[in-house]
Amino acid sequence: MPCAREGCSAELSPLQVKAGRPYCCSLCELLAAEFDRAEAMCRDQYTSPEAEALLTDAWTALVAAGDAFAEYRQAVQALSRLRALRDVS
Ligand SMILES: [Zn+2]
Repeated sequence: MPCAREGCSAELSPLQVKAGRPYCCSLCELLAAEFDRAEAMCRDQYTSPEAEALLTDAWTALVAAGDAFAEYRQAVQALSRLRALRDVS
């Protein structure tokens, strides 16, 4: 079963599935909560261009944080594959 955070491709552990946890780790849980919060802020009506610009900045930074974390996870996974290969040979 995959992690519930959009953009995360990690599989949940059997323990997490059993416990009914939707996210693979606490950082995914945190990012998902921040996305919910940002979405709620987007639904508010902003009348000032300054507020609109700040909201756009916040959203862009949050997407970048999610992407950076995904990139980190991919590098760590590639590293463990490499180490597994080394340990076998
Ligand atoms: Zn995840």
